[in-house]
This record gives sequence, C-alpha cells and structure tokens, in this order.
Amino acid sequence: MYTVAQLIGGVWGAGGEGGELVVRDPADDSPVATVPVATADEVAKAVEAARGVAADWAVTDPAERAAALHRAADAVEAAAEELAQATTAEMGKPLDDARGGVTAGIGTLRQYAELGPLRGGRTLHGGHVALDFMTPEPRGVVAAITPWNDPVAVSCGLLGAALVTGNVVLYKPSERTPATGWLLARALDAALPAGVLSLLTGGAEVGAALAGQDVDVVAHVGSTATGRAIAAAGARTGAKVLLENGGSDPLVIDNGVDPVWAADQAALGCFANAGQICVAVERIYVHRDVAEDFVDALIQRAEALTVGPGREPGTQLGPLVDRRHRDHVHGQVTAAVAEGARLRTGGELPDGPGAFYPATVVSDCRHEMVLVREETFGPVAPVVVVDSFSEGLRCAADSPYGLAATVLTGSMSHAHRAWRELPVGTVKVNAVFGGAPGGAAQPRRGSGQGFGYGPELLDEFSTVKTVHIEAPGGGHW
Ligand code: NAD
Repeated sequence: MYTVAQLIGGVWGAGGEGGELVVRDPADDSPVATVPVATADEVAKAVEAARGVAADWAVTDPAERAAALHRAADAVEAAAEELAQATTAEMGKPLDDARGGVTAGIGTLRQYAELGPLRGGRTLHGGHVALDFMTPEPRGVVAAITPWNDPVAVSCGLLGAALVTGNVVLYKPSERTPATGWLLARALDAALPAGVLSLLTGGAEVGAALAGQDVDVVAHVGSTATGRAIAAAGARTGAKVLLENGGSDPLVIDNGVDPVWAADQAALGCFANAGQICVAVERIYVHRDVAEDFVDALIQRAEALTVGPGREPGTQLGPLVDRRHRDHVHGQVTAAVAEGARLRTGGELPDGPGAFYPATVVSDCRHEMVLVREETFGPVAPVVVVDSFSEGLRCAADSPYGLAATVLTGSMSHAHRAWRELPVGTVKVNAVFGGAPGGAAQPRRGSGQGFGYGPELLDEFSTVKTVHIEAPGGGHW
C-alpha cells in the first residue's frame, strides 16, 4: 500500500486538505494507494511557490540543467522496478509492458539531457555592422497534467523536456496512477534544486484548478474532452496550451495482403495494453477479398491471449483501468451489436472481481457506428469491409480525430497515397507500432495541438527572443 504525499514549494507532505482518495487494483479491487487531494488554495500556493524559483532555474547553465536531468534519469533507473510494479498495481497493465514504459521514460530523460544544451537559434547579418540572433528562453511555469495509460513514459517526456529547457514544473499525475506519479516525482526531485518540481495530486478538479492558474504553459496528455476544457481555460489565462489527446486510429488493409500477417498486426494494435494506448488501432477497414480470412485469423489471435492480472508472468491481456471505463467500452460494443454488427468473440462482461474485459472482435460494422467513429480505448476490433483501398482511405480520413493511422499494403503507390492523403499526425505503413525513439508527431483536430515528444517538444516549452544589434551612431564597431 502506497501512501502518496504532495510536493509543494520544495516540501514533501504539504497540503492535502481536500481529502483523500483511494486507488484500487483493477485486477482484484484491493486498495493500492491512499492519496491526498489538493484544494484550489493549495494549487494556487504551489504555483506561487514555483514562480518564486523560476527565475533561478531559468538562468542555471544549460549544461548544469542537463546534468541534473541525467542524475534524475539515474534515480528513475534505480527506482525502475518499483515504478513498474506501481503502474501494474494501479492501472493493471502486464508487468513487462510497465517495465517497457519505464525504460522508455528513462531513455527520453537521457535524450533530453543530451539535446538540451545543444539548442541555439539562427543568426543573420542584415548589414555589415548589424547582427540579428535568435535565442531560446524558458517559458517559465509549466503545468504538466498526465493520464494513466502509460504513466511513466508519458510523464518523462513532458517533465524532461520542460525541465531541461529551464522551466519549473507543477506535475499533476492521473488520479488513477498517483502512486506511480509520486514515485517518479520523488526520483526526479532528488536530482533537482528544491522547488523546481512540484507534485499535486487529486482528480479532475485539481487538474482544472491548476489549468486555471496563472501559469505559462499547460501541457495535457489525456482525453479530448479534457483537452478542450483546458484550451478554454488557456484562452482565459493566456497560457500556452499543448495538447496530446484522444484518437480513433484506423487500420486500412489492402487487397493482396497476407490476411494472417494482417491479423497479427491488428491483434497487436487492438489488444496491446488492453487497447488503452492513444495510438491503438480503433477501427479496421479491410478489403472484401481478404476480409473473411482476416477476421477468422483475428478471432484466433483474440482467443489465444493469456488473460490475467498484470502482475502474473505471461499475462498478455490485463484488466481495463476500472469498471467505469469497462462500462464505457462495453456500452459501445453492445450499441454496435444492437445496430446490426456481429459479435464474433468476446463482448461479454466476465464474472469475478476487477475490470477484466475480453479481447473482442466485432464484424459487419458500419463506418457511422459510434464504436467505429469514437475512441473506445479497450480491447475491441471493429471491422468494416470495404470494396477498394480508396474507400478504406476515404473512411480512414473521415474522423473527428487526427492522431495516427496505419495502412497494410504491398503497393508502393498506395503507401504514398496513404501518407499524402490521410489528415493525421503519423502515418504508419506495414507496422502498427514501432516509430523510432526520438520521433515526434503533431496531432490534428480533436487529437490535440503542438508537438509531442522529440526535439520539437523542447521548442514547444521554449520561447524565442530575437536580438538586433548595431554599432552606436550607425558607425563601425
Ligand atoms: P483525462 O483527460 O481524463 O485525464 C488526464 C489528466 O487530466 C488527469 O490527470 C486528470 O485528472 C486531468 N483532468 C481531468 N479533467 C480535467 C479538467 N477539466 N481540467 C484539467 N485537468 C483535468 O484522460 P485519461 O482518461 O487519464 O487518459 C486517457 C486518454 O488519454 C485517452 O483519450 C487517450 O487517447 C489519451 N492519451 C493521449 C496520448 C497522446 O499522446 N495523444 C497519450 C496517452 C493517452
């Protein structure tokens, strides 16, 4: 059982007058953590305290900030197993996946530690005695509000990039994974000057209070609805808003593709982390000529998964994060079936404790169904049969979201059409996952705004000052 504490103004254990919440293991409902809830007043005080140390951190040498981030990465490495165990206990994912998320987070911290001091700007010589240069500066106070589905990897991206560029950070982890957030903040704080990082815990109301404060950037990774609320708050306060939000990523399967390989890809895209990945495959458009064999193979993959608590070795499909979320997933599946879709496997609520939901394949879906158009965020593969690659692309493009998309095709011209025509941040050809470390993407439409990850995220957390210098009196130096 974890006893989470907040970090406000460099002091651990501060605040928490807003009460306490208990996190339960989604595998068996047992309590995992007790968590203080920040009041709006505590949030305001934390922002004020952070503002007080922002100037010092901003003028700390970039190499010194980078060294601190390397030390922070060491500390996260030392706590890696504890972080992975906490992630699995709080949100249910298989332990090996949780370890992978921690490893990814450490890699991101180190990458930002290396890239931070290398940043510079353009130089222009507008005249013989005139010089213009552009230099990056920190934005100041950053609020980082994060989700539960890959809590360490996601948080390390935002926190690493914001800190190394000289910003102070108020970190608000998800109320479903606060112990993981607390362990991460403890590791990072040990390597940083006091007050540079703050930790606020609690639910949506704490996030909303933070987003409404006088901060310079609100960086949110989470649902589209929350992102929109934060954007509205940013419009009132003037904070820059960076949003990495939900998606409904399509998988388009071309004619001539091996249906068994396509099923492997679809199973990975739909069922990994029980479908709780922002870039999970959420809807499948398969060419009629390969559809039947593809669906048969996908059903086999779904039924072969080892289901169990994430902490048990060999588990491939853990529970969903909680029962509320399971109701959301199941509601979309039952609505699609009521509208004529065919349940081919899964789709039933299991007996017993926890928030387990089986890997589910639903065929005979139509593009208009909510299960297809909206984000499900569960282990569900809705299949729509199309008559041509063009129809598949057209449906894939027709979405309120614009996060990522995958096409499986042996045709180079179809691959090129896909990346040119799909209005999304990332197009993947012949692999549902596996972008290079260090890659960045810009989500579109309901999926957010601004770069997530990569060197580009350092730019998002910086502003640029342009300086124009001439010799006095218009003369020479
Ligand atoms: P969420 O938006 O409900 O919660 C995320 C964070 O926002 C939490 O810390 C929460 O307390 C806070 N929050 C909630 N309401 C708020 C408000 N009104 N104002 C300020 N903060 C508020 O999302 P979630 O359920 O934790 O995460 C799942 C979602 O995250 C999915 O939609 C998924 O696609 C998305 N996601 C996106 C990416 C990406 O890179 N695009 C990555 C991971 C997850």
